[in-house]
Amino acid sequence: MTPVAEDAAEVRRLAAGSRSLDVLTERVSECRACPRLVTWREDVAIEKRAAFRDEVYWGRPVPGWGPADAQIAIVGLAPAAHGGNRTGRIFTGDRSGDWLFAALYRAGLARIPISVSLDDGQELLDVRMLAAVRCAPPANKPTTEERDTCAPWMVRELELLRPTLRVVVALGGFAWGTLWPALKAAGYDVPGRRPPFGHLQEAREGDGPLILGSYHPSQQNTFTGKLTEEMLDAVFARAVAATA
Ligand code: SF4
Repeated sequence: MTPVAEDAAEVRRLAAGSRSLDVLTERVSECRACPRLVTWREDVAIEKRAAFRDEVYWGRPVPGWGPADAQIAIVGLAPAAHGGNRTGRIFTGDRSGDWLFAALYRAGLARIPISVSLDDGQELLDVRMLAAVRCAPPANKPTTEERDTCAPWMVRELELLRPTLRVVVALGGFAWGTLWPALKAAGYDVPGRRPPFGHLQEAREGDGPLILGSYHPSQQNTFTGKLTEEMLDAVFARAVAATA
């Protein structure tokens, strides 16, 4: 039976003791350490959005996915209430995912240009995708305590990816800020001073991965033209070039 983390100490213990990404995935998926987020994710799964009223929502933490020997990691903020929290896969079934996967497909990093459900045939190619916070938060805003409680899952995932990881793409300022201490805790070389977040902002230290900033493909950015397809393509072109 999969052990269930009920508080921050249990998250730390279970994450650190996960010997593989498969074990980590099982344990993350059962986590109940943040009472506010557990209530929210499960309430959303019962109430649903009208357009999805016939679907069974996932309503649980959304684990990372993609090959265990990926060279590129993409880190987002948290699952969307009616996206990842509905489908069980990060950036799947929402507008941000539509943008992101179209770009990944153009870059040769995804098998098909859509990501709509667990059985859509999508496959990430040399990319592991994860969220800094694994449960959908109200208004897409986790608290500082929730961010810190969830961090050990990301730290362990980054540790397990260490043999192959060369590039980490942070989607948005929240992921950028959360990544720094997580990479350090996972044993990577990280620049001592964190540059301000920006689109195509880069940082690297010693043998550590290239850390690359990208505006988040949220509707707020894509509808307003703050993030264009060309700008997102430039991020993944840079990521691919850095693995060569
Ligand atoms: S946000 Fe993270 S730590 Fe909190 S309940 Fe979800 S998976 Fe667990």
